[in-house]
Amino acid sequence: MKKILVANRGEIALRVMRTARRMGIRTVAVYSEADRRSPHVLFADEAICLGPPPSNQSYLLGGKIIAEAKRLGVGGIHPGYGFLSENAAFAKSVTEAGMAFIGPSPRSIEVMGSKLAAKEAVKKFAIPMVPGTPDAITDVEKAKTIAQNIGYPILIKASAGGGGKGMRVVEKEEDLADQMERAISEALSSFGDGSVFIEKYIAAPRHIEIQVLADSFGNTVHLFERECSIQRRHQKVVEEAPSSVLSPEVRAAMGADAIKVAKACNYTGAGTVEFLLDSNQQYYFLEMNTRLQVEHPVTEMITGIDLVEQQINIARGEKLPFSQKDLRINGHAIELRIYAEDPYQNFMPSIGQLETYQPPTGKGIRVDDGYEEGMDIPIYYDPMLAKLCVWGKSRPEAIQRMKAAIADYHIKGAATTLPFGKFVLAHEAFTSGRFDTHFVKKYFSKEALENLENEHGELAAALALHVYLKEKKRLRPVFSPQSFSPQSSV
Ligand code: ADP
Ligand code: ADP
Ligand code: MG
Repeated sequence: MKKILVANRGEIALRVMRTARRMGIRTVAVYSEADRRSPHVLFADEAICLGPPPSNQSYLLGGKIIAEAKRLGVGGIHPGYGFLSENAAFAKSVTEAGMAFIGPSPRSIEVMGSKLAAKEAVKKFAIPMVPGTPDAITDVEKAKTIAQNIGYPILIKASAGGGGKGMRVVEKEEDLADQMERAISEALSSFGDGSVFIEKYIAAPRHIEIQVLADSFGNTVHLFERECSIQRRHQKVVEEAPSSVLSPEVRAAMGADAIKVAKACNYTGAGTVEFLLDSNQQYYFLEMNTRLQVEHPVTEMITGIDLVEQQINIARGEKLPFSQKDLRINGHAIELRIYAEDPYQNFMPSIGQLETYQPPTGKGIRVDDGYEEGMDIPIYYDPMLAKLCVWGKSRPEAIQRMKAAIADYHIKGAATTLPFGKFVLAHEAFTSGRFDTHFVKKYFSKEALENLENEHGELAAALALHVYLKEKKRLRPVFSPQSFSPQSSV
């Protein structure tokens, strides 16, 4: 594999190409007319324009991407996440065209792409599962009986759902018929598949997922967990590794079960097995994501393993260069997703031009982004601008580093979720580790954020005054303006 095409855009396209280049592999970018001057395009050795901005006229054109790849003599296609990454038909066409798909087999994608098929596949391995229906359900009366047995609240879920979409909580029987009807029509329109099923709604769970890697020789390892309980609208916003609550025993059990899930679908490549953990450290299998995950950097930071490098090696037919006993958790990593959304306005998308864009740098800081100062944020795609990741020897050190990095991230021209990140990192529930997936709903509001900003403002003002008075006293006899710089006084 001497040349790789990355069928994606933004930060993930850039991140994949960086590793490819480091491995001595040439890179091909694809782009839409909206992304003509994007960093991922400028970075690549070659670049192909796919068409107008909307995804279905550009990044989702599997046939065109494959044809261009063939023409350019590409050896493998990396799909990133989103777009075509979980499209089994695309993966199949790539291999049929004589190239490597840098991901699992079409069959694994198909099985795990359906939450119901996934549960069916792992059933015989005795993996703990959330109580619920094993098949799609359409009959409301049947659904009522099942819900009664499970006990309210229940969750209606789209089998083909993803990205936090296609889920409805039902608190009481009166609402069931109506919610089910809506769930089915939503699933049909969003995912082209109206299958929905019922799950018990776990009261205050934590989202814990296990990273797995599998080669084509039957070697499968896990790279420990990531905790992704800080979510809004069922979507992750702050992730960390390791989790602050897992006991070594539960970690080992979840890791072993994740490997079983991967084996259940003959998995190869990098994948993620998602679980919910309840307050008794009991865990339940949710689903498997058959791709590189947005939050994969935190795993890389605590294990020292480049997951994209492993994906490429596995796709080239190589053996995993390590086994489970070689893997260790080193320190603690946290990721904050920075979205162009306004946390003061109910996370409304905020588009505009990045007048100022200065990411922080320094020890233990990694920023995965796909933007530069002066760029416009296109309205056509996911509004994530960047991922701010930090590493520390311990969780408190990582938290401290993240706070400093947020303060050192300067973005003007669009509202972002940076202040939200600051709120989370400062919150006692987060720092103490006592939180669950309801953190945002429970604690976050525009007012709470304003209070924090005011507190910090007052604190900063008080500190400045204190320093000023102290310095004034000390410096009075031989005052010189040079010695009174903020750096020397704080
Ligand atoms: P992750 O699961 O990697 O932590 P997300 O759940 O936010 O992250 O999904 C990653 C990306 O894939 C996002 O851009 C999301 O919109 C997209 N995505 C995930 N699942 C689907 C799906 N079934 N259909 C369409 N887009 C999806
Ligand atoms: P998606 O495909 O959209 O990622 P998941 O099944 O992975 O869907 O669920 C996403 C999130 O929704 C979980 O992280 C959790 O916060 C919430 N969730 C899902 N299933 C349940 C459940 N049975 N009980 C409580 N919360 C759930
Ligand atoms: Mg999920």
